[in-house]
Amino acid sequence: MYDAIIVGARCAGSPTALLLTRKGYKVLLLDRGTFPSDMPFSNHYVHQTGSARLKRWGLLDPLAATGCPPITTNHWNYGAFTLTGSPPPADGGVTEAYAPRRKALDPVLVNAAVAAGAELREGFSAQEVLWENDRVVGIRGRQKSGNIVSEKARITIGADGMFSLVARAVKAPEYNNKPPLEGSWYSYWSGVRMKGWHLWLRPQRVIFAYNTNDNLALIGVAFAAKDLPEVRTDVERHHQQTIREIAPDLAEQMQSGRHEGKFVGGAIPGYVRKPYGPGWALVGDAGYQKDPCTASGITDAFGSAEWLAEAIDAGFSGRQPLEAALADYERKRNESELPYYEMTSQLATLQPPPPEIQQLLAALVDNPEERSRFFGVVAHTVPVPEFFAPENVQRIISRQKGAGAV
Ligand SMILES: Cc1cc2nc3c(=O)[nH]c(=O)nc-3n(C[C@H](O)[C@H](O)[C@H](O)COP(=O)(O)OP(=O)(O)OC[C@H]3O[C@@H](n4cnc5c(N)ncnc54)[C@H](O)[C@@H]3O)c2cc1C
Repeated sequence: MYDAIIVGARCAGSPTALLLTRKGYKVLLLDRGTFPSDMPFSNHYVHQTGSARLKRWGLLDPLAATGCPPITTNHWNYGAFTLTGSPPPADGGVTEAYAPRRKALDPVLVNAAVAAGAELREGFSAQEVLWENDRVVGIRGRQKSGNIVSEKARITIGADGMFSLVARAVKAPEYNNKPPLEGSWYSYWSGVRMKGWHLWLRPQRVIFAYNTNDNLALIGVAFAAKDLPEVRTDVERHHQQTIREIAPDLAEQMQSGRHEGKFVGGAIPGYVRKPYGPGWALVGDAGYQKDPCTASGITDAFGSAEWLAEAIDAGFSGRQPLEAALADYERKRNESELPYYEMTSQLATLQPPPPEIQQLLAALVDNPEERSRFFGVVAHTVPVPEFFAPENVQRIISRQKGAGAV
C-alpha cells in the first residue's frame, strides 16, 4: 500500500513525487514511457518562475548542466517596433528562463524523484482506476513485462497529461472550455543562434525562436485556427513561407544553417478540471490545459505540483481535513492561473490587439520599466490583473502622451 500512486512521470508527476517523497511519503511513480525520451508535441520554454521552482527543489544546476543555454532577454517584434528587455526576476532573484529539450528536462525531474526515494516503474501503462465504495483506491495496469498488476494507495494522482486516464475514469468536471485557437509547428536548426526569446507577432501568424540543447535553435510558427486545414496540407512550405515574408533576416540565417529533424506540433483545446475528489487528484495538464502560445504549461505544471503536494501533506498529516486541503489546492491554482488562462486564450486567437492594447504596446517602446513588467506578466512575475487593470493601462499610455507633448 502506497501513500500516493502517480500516473505520469514528466513535468507534473515527477515534481509531485519528489515533493511528497521528501515529506516522507511512500510514492509509486509510473509512466508508460521510458526515460530519457522526447515528447512529440511540446515546445520547451520554461519561464523564470519555472526556473525559480527548479532552483527551490535543487534542480536548476542539474538542468543547466545538460548544456541548455539560459535565456535572459525577450525580443518581441510587432512589425512597426520591437520590444526588447527582461522580466522582473522570479523568486530567489532568478533571471534565467531555459528551453530544454524534453529528453533533457524530464530525466532531471524523474531522477530527482527516484533519488528522493520514489519507486519508478517505466513502461507501465495504467488501464483503469480501482474503486471501493465510491472512492478511488488505486490502479490496475500492464507492466513492461506484460503482467497485469493492481496497486493501491491512499491517493491516486493523474499526472497523465491531456488525455488523462484518471480524469476520464473519475469523470472530473470541466469548466471554462475553449476550442483549439491556433496551431503551431516547430523544428530544429543547427548553425543558427538566437539572442533570447524571439517572437514576431502579426495578425494570424506568430513566429517563435530560441536556443535549446545540443547547440540547436528551435524555430516555430503559429497559425490562426481558420488556416489550419490548409497549413496541414504542407506544414514545411507554410512554415518557410511565413518566415520568409515576416522575418527575412531569420530566413537568411536558416538558409546558412542546417535543418535538423522533422516538423512537430498541432493544435490543442483549453480546459480547466476540478482537480480532486474521493481518493484522487489531478496535476499538470491532466487538471488544466491552455493554448501553448504563452509557453507556460511546464511552468504551471511545476506550480500545481507544489500546491498539490502541500495540500496532500496538510491532509495526511492531520493539519487540515484532506478534502478542505484539496479544495484549497483548486482555489490557489485557479486564483493564480485563471486570469493567465483567459489572457492566453485571447492571445491565441492571433487577432490584432484591440486599439487600447495597441496604444499600450507602442507606449512600452520608450518605457523600459513598464516594458519589463509587461514581459513579467507572461513570465508570471507580475500578476495579469495588476498589469492589465484599466487604470494601469491608461497610466502607461498617458505617460507616453505626456512625454511626447514635452
Ligand atoms: C504544440 C505544443 C507546444 C507547447 N509548448 C510549450 C512550451 O513552450 N512551454 C511550456 O511550458 N509548455 C508547452 N506546451 C505544454 C506542455 O507540453 C505541457 O503543459 C506539459 O508537458 C504538461 O506536463 P504534464 O506532466 O502535465 O503532462 P505530459 O508532459 O503530457 O506527461 C504526461 C505523462 O503521462 C504518461 N501517461 C499518460 N497516460 C498514461 C497511462 N495510462 N499510464 C501511464 N502513463 C501515462 C505519458 O506517457 C506522459 O509521459 C506545449 C504543448 C503543445 C501541444
